[in-house]
Amino acid sequence: MHVTMIGTGYVGLVSGACFADFGHDVICIDKDAGKIERLKAGGIPIYEPGLDVLVAQNVKAGRLSFDTEAADAVAKADAVFIAVGTPSRRGDGHADLSYVYAAAEEIAGLLDGFTVIVTKSTVPVGTGDEIERIIKAKRPDAQFAVVSNPEFLREGAAIEDFKRPDRVVVGLEDERARPVMTELYRPLYLNETPIVFTSRRTSELIKYAANAFLALKITYINEIADLCEALGADVQQVAKGIGLDKRIGGKFLNAGPGYGGSCFPKDTLALVRTATDAGSPVRLIETTVEINDARKKAMSAKVAKAVDGDLTGKTVGVLGLTFKPNTDDMRDAPALDILPALQALGAKVQAYDPEGEEAKHMLKGVDFKSDAYEAATGADVLVIITEWDQFRALDLDRIKGLMKTPTLVDLRNIYKPEDIRSRGFKYASIGRA
Ligand code: NAD
Repeated sequence: MHVTMIGTGYVGLVSGACFADFGHDVICIDKDAGKIERLKAGGIPIYEPGLDVLVAQNVKAGRLSFDTEAADAVAKADAVFIAVGTPSRRGDGHADLSYVYAAAEEIAGLLDGFTVIVTKSTVPVGTGDEIERIIKAKRPDAQFAVVSNPEFLREGAAIEDFKRPDRVVVGLEDERARPVMTELYRPLYLNETPIVFTSRRTSELIKYAANAFLALKITYINEIADLCEALGADVQQVAKGIGLDKRIGGKFLNAGPGYGGSCFPKDTLALVRTATDAGSPVRLIETTVEINDARKKAMSAKVAKAVDGDLTGKTVGVLGLTFKPNTDDMRDAPALDILPALQALGAKVQAYDPEGEEAKHMLKGVDFKSDAYEAATGADVLVIITEWDQFRALDLDRIKGLMKTPTLVDLRNIYKPEDIRSRGFKYASIGRA
């Protein structure tokens, strides 16, 4: 099949490379000329494990190419994917659909022969209807079907998630699209991946309902963690004890500083807006958003408490800035709330992240260091915000020797309290007395 990907970001590039690896002919388009230039030169604009090799192999095999111009790619495509960003619109939390609709306009002018237009971007219910209207208005003669096919990959494990998903969801209103979608995902039938065919509106809602549920699950265990601290219980044992129940499941039960990232914050807000506008509010998700916002801000108080309540003039070393390990993505990372809050309490912040280059443009007044030991040097307290593997096996005696006072605040519970304390550290974590 000939596949064209409009938008070559985290989702577009991974999906494009994986479809090429399935054997399809894929052209990835992006209007960001710098990104396309870099890809054409053999570079990768984002950090995602394994992506460099996958892209290089498929480019070499002649199945994957990159362009800034969509004209030829759309004309010959069996399927055109829209994988552009849908950030929160400033002020009201609605998904900003301007990139999606601009892509639809552009595609409309270029269609040639029956083409399936597939929305991979996360879009509110009814967006597929609007894309169809835009294309019909511009090209009444065009033969096309608009399909919803939301993406569920996780950054940091994106290739594995795309190639071995728990399920694929396809929402369609025009039966002509079904054989095209079936053929695109045919390699997954070999793994017996469930393909859920449904209506377009249902498919659009599945994506938001899934992300909001996961955000709710994280927020639930975070509140239970606070309760554990108040009652002298251990949240990790609670999570294990409830997670072994198959009705609950053990994933997304790691207590931490609050969810962040490129999806949960904006998707929960967008679902709240959609539901309010539809006159059917989702109060659980409204509350989830409120609790999570407050939680990220409250983390600075936890750090202050670890140094006897006063951060004025203290040096805080920070390990990890990206919203999760194995990505360079800083969008809505908890660090963007936590570091300014520490500074507002009078702390001097020095930080290290293995891939957080972007953080340097997003955080003001922070002294960026080149490894974990530099970030610990002279610090009154060291705070782990992102659980990169390299922070799990730190030379703690060396860290202790470098710090002004050996105090560790572990917002990801990667260390065992008794281990750390036996090495002479003062230690605070999440939901463990
Ligand atoms: P991104 O910002 O990394 O990539 C979007 C790309 O689209 C950018 O490179 C931008 O230059 C390009 N673009 C915008 N308009 C364009 C146009 N008209 N023509 C060509 N290129 C255009 O975003 P992302 O993280 O890949 O997310 C894309 C969508 O996928 C969003 O709706 C997001 O919610 C959804 N999603 C993301 C993830 C994730 O983990 N990042 C997971 C599942 C779903």
